[in-house]
Amino acid sequence: MTQVRTGFGFDVHRLTPDRELWLGGIRIPHTHGLLGHSDADVLIHALCDALLGAANLRDIGYHFPDTSADYAGIDSKILLRRTMQLVAEKGYCLGNADITVCAEHPKLSPYIPAMRQTLAALMNTDEDNVSVKATTTERLGFTGREEGIAAYASVLIEKGSGSSEVL
Ligand code: MG
Repeated sequence: MTQVRTGFGFDVHRLTPDRELWLGGIRIPHTHGLLGHSDADVLIHALCDALLGAANLRDIGYHFPDTSADYAGIDSKILLRRTMQLVAEKGYCLGNADITVCAEHPKLSPYIPAMRQTLAALMNTDEDNVSVKATTTERLGFTGREEGIAAYASVLIEKGSGSSEVL
């Protein structure tokens, strides 16, 4: 019998000059980047939390603490791969993921195909299973003031319908 579970993730990082902007595993040209202990890829962090939540495996900070030098400046793609391994150890594979990024600038639409391709490869799934959406918040709130970028992710994971082997 197939077991299906859902998960939800949310993350925010502050925008600051003199940092590279990484979103969905790719570098995006912009005047500002996101501040964080890792590369601060807020989209991947929300996705990892959704996956961990679906498998009831705590959260990204529990597994990859920002107090650990091991994760200083780390590429969040590595965190996503490790997260998928944790989920696979519980016997689950990804059904699909749906992610929304809230950013006033830059416009993310041109980068969404590359993000989907990158994330699908990292999660060993078809691109059709990975949706990335971008929205502004109509200049309202901290995202609207360009103080930060927020990301929300919803995932479905399943057990018993196929291979849960990852990478
Ligand atoms: Mg984060």
